[in-house]
Amino acid sequence: MNNIFVYCEIEDGKVADVSLELLTKGRVLADTLGCELEALALGHNLAGIEKELAEYGADRVHVADCECLAPYRTLPHAAVVCGIFKEEQPQIALFGATPVGRDLGPRVSSTLHSGLTADCTSLEIGSHTDVKSGKEYKDLLYQIRPAFGGNIIATIINPDHRPQMATVREGVMKKEKAKTPGKGIVKKVDPKKYVNDADFVVRIIDRQIEERKINIKGAPVIVAGGYGMGSKENFDLLFELADVLGAEVGASRAAVDAGMAEHGRQVGQTGVTVRPKLYIACGISGQIQHTAGMDQSSMIISINTDPDAPINKIADYAITGDVTEVIPKMIKYYKQNSK
Ligand code: FAD
Repeated sequence: MNNIFVYCEIEDGKVADVSLELLTKGRVLADTLGCELEALALGHNLAGIEKELAEYGADRVHVADCECLAPYRTLPHAAVVCGIFKEEQPQIALFGATPVGRDLGPRVSSTLHSGLTADCTSLEIGSHTDVKSGKEYKDLLYQIRPAFGGNIIATIINPDHRPQMATVREGVMKKEKAKTPGKGIVKKVDPKKYVNDADFVVRIIDRQIEERKINIKGAPVIVAGGYGMGSKENFDLLFELADVLGAEVGASRAAVDAGMAEHGRQVGQTGVTVRPKLYIACGISGQIQHTAGMDQSSMIISINTDPDAPINKIADYAITGDVTEVIPKMIKYYKQNSK
């Protein structure tokens, strides 16, 4: 049976979290299908990279190690990935829904005429019966994502073309080392086999890398505010609570649109996906576009004046009350009780 491939993003020898998340998921899918999991590692100075990728379940690692492949450029990477896919005929190919994956995935899928589902929030294996022909398809990739403005969750399948391709956003899948590591067998790839001069028309003259000032993705505790916070001044209460708890401050899109918080703090479908140990949702109603980015949190506490707010359906604890009364009490209590 043909295998599952994950394109791994690598910068200065560091594998992106999203790629390790995809390998974790890819391992589960491969075990379900009884096939192998393969990783693509394109870049420079990649010696030993297979060890980390094997820990996350990769059985084979295609290593294309060449100065010409770092930093990332669309054309040479697309040429190498397409070349490998034409030879290996994967049944499934996964990319991060990052600037790189969003650039590369569609280019590869259009070259291979395979189709691609962007921004999946879940991937599963399942079957399908065509209503018209009655034809049955087994072991398809269910590419699951919100559609129509988040009003429905769509399951998209691609019965007739290979590979079945999907991009998945950072933080949506869990990153976990495999219980039984993959074999990590290296298959060296000579990129010159696939690229030509025209693939190098773009030259990188200079790169400016800015550290993200706000990093809510990795925060173990997030205090998030919504439109119900009422004002930018009230939002300061969240920073105070976050300070006491050692937390980061997140926000709903309505709060961001109202100028209460920066866009980098937005949680949800068009923001960041988070899965902290504790998520405190303050004045957030809990629309699907918001919960899609935080419903995997280990514990959720909501503070809302409306006891029937949708957020309470997924909250472990719901506090019915006004944020301007409840949050100062929380700050006071935590200050009194923290050592
Ligand atoms: P509201 O829905 O206005 O809710 C405010 C809540 O605060 C209410 O439940 C109210 O009871 C409560 N409240 C009011 N006053 C108080 C008070 N004093 N004390 C306590 N509670 C109070 N949204 C996101 O968050 N993230 C996204 O990434 C995102 N992407 C989107 C993408 C698309 C394509 C679309 C169409 C929408 C998207 N949205 C997103 C918007 C989403 O649909 C909601 O509009 C938004 O999440 C609502 O934000 P909110 O809960 O803060 O505001």
